[in-house]
Amino acid sequence: MPLNIGVLALQGDFQEHRAVLESLGAAVTEVRLPHQLEGLDGLVIPGGESTTIVKLAHRWGFPDALRHFIDEGGAVWGTCAGMIVMASALLEPEPEPLSLMDITVSRNSFGRQVDSFETDIPVKGVPGGPVHAVFIRAPSVQDQGEGVECIAQLEDGTPVAVRSGKLMATAFHPELTPDTRIHEMFLRLSAGEPSPV
Ligand code: GLN
Repeated sequence: MPLNIGVLALQGDFQEHRAVLESLGAAVTEVRLPHQLEGLDGLVIPGGESTTIVKLAHRWGFPDALRHFIDEGGAVWGTCAGMIVMASALLEPEPEPLSLMDITVSRNSFGRQVDSFETDIPVKGVPGGPVHAVFIRAPSVQDQGEGVECIAQLEDGTPVAVRSGKLMATAFHPELTPDTRIHEMFLRLSAGEPSPV
């Protein structure tokens, strides 16, 4: 049986995630309404515009449904705007994040001068060497609760990927590179497999 993975399809680059997940053998559902979370092993919240995603998520009743999904053992991975959506607190006043993961996040953390950049970083749990990470107006993690592990950081120590149980968030966009190892890690998490360290 393939894993059933949803991509939150309210706004953003969910199609890129869909393509990668399908190439890895997952059965992918574009999730536009909360009832579509039923039966999924994992959900990806894509990059895009976090204020829009949060607004639409409230409109369709996702906040409670997502908390229920996580309580029932579903895995969730947010990339970029998805990380912002998952946060418990933001340094900026908007949007009000959905508080799915105990992290404090700064939006557009790298400022206008360097709003997009690419770099190679090792990611804990991803074998085979550093990952080429693409940052686009990216957030970063400013603080994390107990039980949240930083799995990747920039050279200056800024955390840019975190994991806690079956939740993970990356400030960068693995769906925009041909390297599928982070998606593979999320599929292992969704399957409930212990992660390699
Ligand atoms: N900075 C954007 C936001 O706040 C996220 C950018 C992205 O997802 N590439 O929503």
